[in-house]
Amino acid sequence: MDELISLFMMTAVYVDYENHSRIEDIILTHPEDLNGGQHYYLEIGRGMIRYYLKHYDEALAHYVIATTKAYDTGDANFIADANRYMGIIYRKLNDLDQASYYIEKSVSALKDVDSKLLYATVYLTCGVILVDTGELEHGIRVYKKAYEYFNTVKDAKRHVNYVILLFNMFDVFDSLDKADMAHQYFDEIRLILNTGDFPVYNPMMLRAESRMLKRQGLYEQALSALEKFLKAEVQTPKYTAGYYKNEIKQVFDQIAVLKDKNRSLNSRLTLMYDSMDTSLDHMDYEFEKRLDQALDQEGIYPHFQLKWSVEQNKYIGAEALIRWQDKDKMIPPSDFIHEAEKSDLIIRLSELIIHKSLKFCKDVVTSGLNDFKVSVNISPYQLANQDLAKYIRNELLFFNLEGSHLKIEITERSFLEQNPKILEELYVLKEMGIKIALDDFGTGYSSLSCVTNFPIDVIKIDRSLINNIEDDMKSRKLLAGIIRMMKELDLEIVAEGVENEKQVAILKQFGCDVIQGYYYAKPDKHESVKNNLTSYKK
Ligand code: C2E
Ligand code: CA
Ligand code: CA
Repeated sequence: MDELISLFMMTAVYVDYENHSRIEDIILTHPEDLNGGQHYYLEIGRGMIRYYLKHYDEALAHYVIATTKAYDTGDANFIADANRYMGIIYRKLNDLDQASYYIEKSVSALKDVDSKLLYATVYLTCGVILVDTGELEHGIRVYKKAYEYFNTVKDAKRHVNYVILLFNMFDVFDSLDKADMAHQYFDEIRLILNTGDFPVYNPMMLRAESRMLKRQGLYEQALSALEKFLKAEVQTPKYTAGYYKNEIKQVFDQIAVLKDKNRSLNSRLTLMYDSMDTSLDHMDYEFEKRLDQALDQEGIYPHFQLKWSVEQNKYIGAEALIRWQDKDKMIPPSDFIHEAEKSDLIIRLSELIIHKSLKFCKDVVTSGLNDFKVSVNISPYQLANQDLAKYIRNELLFFNLEGSHLKIEITERSFLEQNPKILEELYVLKEMGIKIALDDFGTGYSSLSCVTNFPIDVIKIDRSLINNIEDDMKSRKLLAGIIRMMKELDLEIVAEGVENEKQVAILKQFGCDVIQGYYYAKPDKHESVKNNLTSYKK
């Protein structure tokens, strides 16, 4: 049960709703088996996931039960933590009196707590509420306390609440117009977020970015960031009446300032007000329209990142990474793949990528690199809803290429739904000689079972497992273990996101087959990559 509960909490932290509800179901089949602490974690987890989904009333109901369970155990850690969650939720519900009431209880329970991390998180929440109630100076003092505590904890920088603290410190210094301090925290945030992909922080980052841009007088860009922030953040109109009203008003106040400075923004602003008033569907529609146009006008195309074979000591293939050039800015895949997956746009989009990737591959093969392979990322939605194998078969025929020239990269998400169509499609692709790689290995929790249960040929070890191997003994050991184990299963091992020579040396020593990352090559356009390859050959 303990393992189940920690899995459950992990899915809550990663806002992994589908798995969370599945595990929740399993746990709830025997609630009588739960001990006090487990019961507490169960209710906190159930509350958290609903909180992230912005179902605040439901979240509150679970936190209330959790609080009762916490008092039942008599454990000060639980009591402090539960009251902290109560403070958080009442703040979201815009009831600062209640929020203060609970956070005081939480702080007073701390005297019997010895976890620095818990101290830090309680102080963080306390600071947030003080700042909200207008006690800025006091709030900042408490934030600094939290900052100190976090910094005494090992790996605190990986902790969600540490990043949230930094955002809050940025916020308060920014609103006090203390640019230097704001900048300092912004830089620290950026440094942490650069170490991986953390979608949870996207809205906060967008808002912070827009404020930074505004400071630099880049009003046009500031506005774009705000638009994205609103789109990401304002999804439940019900709560715009409460907590979000203040948030949105702040943002609109910022826009009002922008508006004064730059008259040409007027029409976009009107559009934003309108879309806020009606609903967000409108914005989604705008997005689809833009993406649709981009697809028509060659605004979407792949870049290619070369892969290095350790054994053959040369480039043996490349991964196609989608790019969207929207007017003068480049929109990263993380900002639109997920949206595109909500409609059939993902199918048009991926057909285009497959076509252009095979074209690239053909071009390289024709120039003399006979074994060259191209890898394409495929989302679960495509496997489930597209006649992918059929499309690929035709494309291979069109370019007169064997299936062995193509690889597809999928993530464990493809297996979570246990959709028979997906498996069927994968087996057909495999029959065609196409190799299947499991991407982002090590980021989810079912990577290992995927490898044994599904038709996987290659594993791509995620950057997060690589990026500090040169400094950290434990990470090195973990990596060595993974590679050894996967070799045992006859899988090809690709390391991704490799950035420096030390990492390369370690990976070679551990027996990694293929290395991909900025150290060897950055993703680039068809022509540049091909030219690189041909000049390299000489
Ligand atoms: P991914 O498949 O894990 O791709 C690797 C990401 O790491 C790429 O980001 C790549 O540019 C970046 N990268 C490569 N080497 C390094 C390095 O040494 N250091 C660092 N810091 N980063 C490195 P990108 O291009 O932003 O793509 C993000 C994700 O978007 C991809 O993750 C993939 O999941 C998705 N994606 C990209 N193209 C497609 C596509 O055509 N279809 C689908 N369904 N998803 C795609
Ligand atoms: Ca990939
Ligand atoms: Ca990856």
